[in-house]
Amino acid sequence: MKIAIYPGSFDPITNGHLDILKNASEIFDEVIIAVAHNINKNGFLTVEERVNLIKKSIKDLPNVKVDSFSGLTIEYAKKHNAEVLIRGLRAVSDFEYEMQLSQANSALCASIKTVFLTTKPEYNFISSSTIREILSNNGDISKFVPDAVNEYLTAEKGV
Ligand code: ADP
Repeated sequence: MKIAIYPGSFDPITNGHLDILKNASEIFDEVIIAVAHNINKNGFLTVEERVNLIKKSIKDLPNVKVDSFSGLTIEYAKKHNAEVLIRGLRAVSDFEYEMQLSQANSALCASIKTVFLTTKPEYNFISSSTIREILSNNGDISKFVPDAVNEYLTAEKGV
């Protein structure tokens, strides 16, 4: 049983994240998408809101579960017997940070490997911060996020 963790902020989850998840769910037996409680970042959505929106967005992916965690990702992965951390790569600009993160995690626990996945080209530019920016200017986010996210954000957070 190969378990993979997909950690991140997911503030909010986007079609880019979802595409990475779909790909991961075809490779691994179980994927846990894990929302990090980030002490340094004031979130746009609460962790509970993010988890609820993810739950609604992963209904078609039976081997994907959602959870939240505090502390080190690698400790969370060990606790759940995961062998793999999933991260997504969009552009070269992601590479340096992601490389550093994966090497730090590997130094903390060598048996847990980071696997990088990419999305379809049409989702490549999407980031949670772009979604927040479009929304704050009353733009249409429907093509970039799952339906549940679009409905919730347009009703609750739209201008
Ligand atoms: P964090 O806040 O930890 O940087 P995010 O919640 O923004 O993370 O995203 C989690 C992971 O998904 C990161 O590895 C990020 O690079 C990746 N990711 C986000 N959006 C995309 C996308 N459109 N295509 C590919 N990877 C993505």
